[in-house]
Parts: sequence; C-alpha cells; structure tokens
Amino acid sequence: MTSLIAVLPGDGIGPEVTRAGLAVLRAVAARHALDLSIEEAPFGGAALDALGAPMPPSTRQLCVDADAVLLGAVGLPGPPPPDPALRPEQGLLDLRALLGVYANLRPIRPLAGACEASPLREERLAGVDMIVVRELTGGIYFGDKQEGEDAASDRCAYSRGEIERVVRCAARLAKQRSRRLCSIDKANVLATSRLWRSTASAVVADEFPGLELEHLLVDAAAMRLLTHAADFDVLVTENMFGDILTDEASVLAGSLGMAPSASIGDGGKGLYEPIHGTAPDIAGQGVANPCGMILSVAMMLELSLDSPEAAREIEAAVAAAVAAGARTPDIAGSAPPATTEQLTEAVLARLGGAPAP
Ligand code: NAD
Repeated sequence: MTSLIAVLPGDGIGPEVTRAGLAVLRAVAARHALDLSIEEAPFGGAALDALGAPMPPSTRQLCVDADAVLLGAVGLPGPPPPDPALRPEQGLLDLRALLGVYANLRPIRPLAGACEASPLREERLAGVDMIVVRELTGGIYFGDKQEGEDAASDRCAYSRGEIERVVRCAARLAKQRSRRLCSIDKANVLATSRLWRSTASAVVADEFPGLELEHLLVDAAAMRLLTHAADFDVLVTENMFGDILTDEASVLAGSLGMAPSASIGDGGKGLYEPIHGTAPDIAGQGVANPCGMILSVAMMLELSLDSPEAAREIEAAVAAAVAAGARTPDIAGSAPPATTEQLTEAVLARLGGAPAP
C-alpha cells in the first residue's frame, strides 16, 4: 500500500535541510522498495506569504490525509506579527494539536566526530545515550494568554489524562531500554507539577512493575545534563521544560543541528522534524547541518513506515559520514567545513552497497 508523506519545508534553513532529508528518504525507499507518495505543501512564513495563513486549508488537509508529516522549521526573522494567528509558530502549534501528537521523542546520542564540537569535556559525553519524551500538546504553550501593555499572563494547565498518556509512552520506551525512567517537574513550586508527579508514580506503579522511576526537579535536571548526562536513559517531562532541556541536551551532541525528533500520538501517524529552528543567521548560505533532519527521516521510517532496517541504515550512514570528516561548520571544529550538500552526499554514498533483499 502506498504511504503518503506530507513534506512541509517551511522557512529559513527549513527548505535546505528538507532537501537533504528527501534525498536520503528517496535513496532508502529505492533500496527497500518502499511505496511512497511524497507531496510538498507551504507552511509557516512561506504559507503566510503565498496564501495568507501559516497553515492554509490545503496544507491542513494534506497533513490530515498523510501517514507521516516531515517538517523543516518555521519562523521569520524580526518582531512577530501583532496578530498571534498570523505567526508561523502558531501554525506549528496548530499542526501538533491537529495531528494529536502528544509525545515528542528527542534522542540525544553524541556521534564520534560531531561531539568534538561540544564545549563539554570528552569524559562528560562518554556513554551518553538518552531519549527525552516531551509532552507536546498541553501546558503553558497552549493555555489562555492575556497580553496587555503593563501585564501579561500565560496559563499552564494539565489534566491527569494528558499526563498519563505521555508517561505511558515514556515508560514503554524505558521498558524496552534500561528499565529506568526519570520524570522531571517543578513539584516544589507548581501545582501542575505536583499532579504530574503523583500521576507518573501511579502509572508506573500500576502498569509498569519492575520499572525504576526517579523524580527530579527541572533545575537539578538542567545541571545534571551537563555534569552526569550518561546517568540518564529515558526522561519524561512537560512541554516547556522539555523544549528548554532538549536544546540544552543538544550541546552534548555537538550542535543543535544534530538532533532529530518524532512526535507521535495513539495511531501510527507522526510528525518528524529536527529540533532546531529556522536559523536566520545562516539561512541561504548552504551550510546548515542536515543531520537532525536526516535522522528525523530515520525516525519516520521506524515509527510510521514500519521500516526499522532502513532507519538503522540511515543512522549508520550519518555516523560514518560524520566520523569520516564530513562536517558542516557547526561541528567542524578546526577542520575544513563541508556544505549541507557535501555532508548529504557523504551520507548518500554510505547508504550504497548491495540493495537490501
Ligand atoms: P534556531 O534553532 O533557529 O538557531 C539557534 C542557533 O543554532 C543559531 O545560531 C543557528 O545558526 C544554529 N543552528 C540551528 N540549526 C542549525 C543547523 N541545522 N545547522 C547549523 N546551525 C544551526 O533558534 P532561534 O535562532 O532561537 O530561532 C530562529 C527562528 O526559528 C525563530 O523564528 C523561532 O521561533 C523559530 N523556531 C522554530 C522551531 C520549529 O520550527 N520547530 C524551533 C525553534 C525555533
């Protein structure tokens, strides 16, 4: 059966890294005889310019129909438009809610070569292999907002059900991995965090016997990510804490440009995107690191297209290309940097060999 992939390149470096991701997707699809229909649509600032809305109806319908959505990044340089409905980032929040993808999986696994660019000492990176599960469709990003000249507020709310389903998702992952789960909150100050903590405890006690659950305050977690990151395996946390902690954790992998993500819900449909933004400071220069996007394609193959072998091939090809020295400026250190295209070509070259049976 044909799988429909909606591709939303977005703004800034979004289209540059999306081109790289699609080249890799097409290469593995050919090798594994995957039957894919790939359709591009405008989204974010690009859609605002072309059709007057960050998520036009045609893009919305394509995403509803698709088996998986691959997204570059959205956001424009300069001050946000006064009307919140016309902000590219609003399109992204609406898309996540539309697809019901409440769990955002963000693996952090430093690759040889790339992590040399990390400002952290080598011994702090040894053995780091974690996955952060960020709640994606609730919390302060989705709460009511009041914005006045002299005062503003953002409401943070979580229901027990919203917490249960994302904790279950993280606990299932932990069960397949080390049987260790760390839940991150701010229960000493926030009511939502106290509900988060008691709910996480109940889900693990009732449904995941044998799983070791640790609770950690977000400030302590921020510090431990830089001092003892290898102690973490699966982490689960609310929307804003996860957003901030994963940008911090990306430093372990050498660059924000290395980190992929998958957003999933209860069905097989997923939204796949690198964790970085539109990087206006380097957009148009052909030097964006495509690895976060290429590794997001690997997550799409595994989680929405039932092709884990193809996913492993891509991960191995990225690791080999980077180890061999194909590195964009963000991870090149003092070595001569590669362009986006050169790094992509290096990955494609390592996907070669005999076609898979
Ligand atoms: P950013 O992630 O775009 O950039 C932060 C820094 O990381 C910049 O120095 C940038 O050059 C670098 N960087 C990011 N991705 C890189 C890559 N692939 N290769 C090399 N270097 C890379 O964050 P920002 O500057 O805070 O935000 C810029 C815009 O992106 C804003 O409009 C913001 O709202 C938007 N944004 C969108 C998303 C998304 O679409 N999911 C996520 C974050 C930010």
